[in-house]
Amino acid sequence: DGVAAAVATGFRDVPDFPRPGVLFKDMTPLLADPVAFGRVTAALAGLARDLEAGAVAGIEARGFMLAAPAAERAGLAFWPVRKAGKLPPPVLRRDYDLEYGTAALELATSVVRPGERVLLVDDVLATGGTARAACELLEEAGAQVAAVVVLLELGSLGGRPQLGDRPLVALRTLP
Ligand code: IMP
Repeated sequence: DGVAAAVATGFRDVPDFPRPGVLFKDMTPLLADPVAFGRVTAALAGLARDLEAGAVAGIEARGFMLAAPAAERAGLAFWPVRKAGKLPPPVLRRDYDLEYGTAALELATSVVRPGERVLLVDDVLATGGTARAACELLEEAGAQVAAVVVLLELGSLGGRPQLGDRPLVALRTLP
């Protein structure tokens, strides 16, 4: 169906970014290819429909670029999960640990319908801390995470167990 190929060719490796020793997976080529990008957002929209989700959430910033078109294609709500300090109140906040340091995400609660099933989207799953924090925010707001979907799962970084029982769909998994 071309989705796996779109993901396989849509990311480029960038050595030593954002720090020496890190191999960054960059989806800029995917975004610049409307055929590949369309295949991916169509697959995300189809997954949201199959899971009977009522909303698609994306994690700032690259998750927005994937989740917003997928939500619109599926005729569903889009919910942004933002870096802390950007959203007007009322918001819920979750602090979490990164490999080096900490970060915080926020969710605007006013649009979250309690009990709504939501598909959470991001580009890359690495250690899993970001996706887990976003799940916890959505659940604290009363939503149910139908699944987490990422384009690329970096298996060696051990993110999957961080999500507990929440289903994880990876369009491509690297060892
Ligand atoms: P984690 O919390 O360690 O799983 O990191 C995942 C978050 O960091 C996601 O929001 C990704 O967008 C970002 N991230 C981590 N590694 C990469 C990468 O190699 N390419 C693009 N984004 C990454």
